[in-house]
Amino acid sequence: MKLYNTLTGKLEEFKTLRDKEARIYTCGPTVYDYAHIGNFRTFCFEDIFRRYLKYKGYKVVQVMNLTDVDDKTIRRANEEGLSLREYTEKYEKAFFEDCETLNIEKVEYNPRATEHIKEMIELVKTLIDKGFAYEKDGSVYFDISAFKEYGKLSKLDKREIKEGVSVDADEYEKDDVRDFVLWKARKEGEPSWPSPWGEGRPGWHLECSVMAMKYLGETIDLHAGGEDLIFPHHENEIAQSEAATGKPFSNYWLHCKYLIVEGKKMSKSLGNFFTLRDLISKGYNPRAIRYVLISSHYRKQLNFTLESVKAAEKAIERVEGFYQAVSQTKNKSDYDERIKGLIEKYRKSFEDSMEEDLNVSGAFGALFEFLGEVNKLYPDSNIPEANRDEVLDFLEKLNTVFAVFDFSSDFPDKEILKLIEERNEARKRRDFKRADEIRDMLKERGIILEDTKEGTRFKRIK
Ligand code: AMP
Ligand code: ZN
Repeated sequence: MKLYNTLTGKLEEFKTLRDKEARIYTCGPTVYDYAHIGNFRTFCFEDIFRRYLKYKGYKVVQVMNLTDVDDKTIRRANEEGLSLREYTEKYEKAFFEDCETLNIEKVEYNPRATEHIKEMIELVKTLIDKGFAYEKDGSVYFDISAFKEYGKLSKLDKREIKEGVSVDADEYEKDDVRDFVLWKARKEGEPSWPSPWGEGRPGWHLECSVMAMKYLGETIDLHAGGEDLIFPHHENEIAQSEAATGKPFSNYWLHCKYLIVEGKKMSKSLGNFFTLRDLISKGYNPRAIRYVLISSHYRKQLNFTLESVKAAEKAIERVEGFYQAVSQTKNKSDYDERIKGLIEKYRKSFEDSMEEDLNVSGAFGALFEFLGEVNKLYPDSNIPEANRDEVLDFLEKLNTVFAVFDFSSDFPDKEILKLIEERNEARKRRDFKRADEIRDMLKERGIILEDTKEGTRFKRIK
């Protein structure tokens, strides 16, 4: 499989250190608020990558950390008068619930920064011993002039690097490259831990180096995150890890481009800031949201629109409808070799797309062309019963990667929509008894109705 490696700036064949085993680190959420759909674009992209590796038979060992101590979490916890743990617990739980809603697979390790303070102190000690870090007033800084390769990921120009000047903030701009903080001396009102340099807390970048190496080894196969993490976060992770071990930290680096909303940057002041929960409360189907998040290429900016979610709902319905129709086929004619041929053709086309730097839209394209070709041979998807299982297996196999279709339901969307229509007619006649009966009956079967300005939508609950 070819992937675009930010480190080399090239499309490269993905080769793992161990045979058929991929060891991956993905930067997780800062649990100071609900994650927004931009964050979930990155997490869904990482999920698709993970799922495709599994589809290809890889064992995946993935770490996604939880940043539960940094400038932002501390500030918010203080504002609400809660301890750091009390504050972050709520958003950590919300994050995992949202991941489940979006069919993001649980990864092997979700370590918390606050549970690795000891290891972080050890790494800082090593960096000081090796001459890559220095202490100043109870804080410790990484000396970027000592690490000659500093800047190799973000392609920094040497002129931009301000040697011997330090920065205390976790986040800063690329035109302000300085010695970054590894350990921060305690400030009034901040949680702190004892260290050889006095009470303090870790800088943000440290945790990912420590947790990646602890769970995956000194050299990992691949590291991923959103494009904003290239500098300074990932640049600093490379410096910390490689200075300490003298070995390459990660062989491949993948970065997902930003999601923007209706052509504009997502921001609270513009009112176009969406969490997953906002969208679901407006009645949008979470699988359609996932569809939108994964279906455009991760190296292109994604312009998120509510229209695109509605279009995705239709696309999903089409595939689920096809699946339902095929599973109910009563066509007794002979096994048709042509269908088998179509499966092989489009399986290859799906894989070729995914192999080309995760071209998910191409992979969806393969699926929809397959549907079209089958329907040309057999209108209304009324294929021979003898071909049924291989077609259903094929769709299910592709869905282990896409994870946007619900094939499990014994209650197809079509029937639900028919009942919704009947309910709307009942309401028009002011027959509220019948309308409520339909609502209750659907509810019993795990279908929740939501009446919106644009009409009634439904949601399946587990
Ligand atoms: P954070 O919780 O801020 O540490 O971010 C979690 C992940 O979401 C990181 O990988 C970020 O790079 C990524 N991210 C943040 N904003 C966006 C956005 N608008 N579009 C895509 N990814 C984003
Ligand atoms: Zn990180």
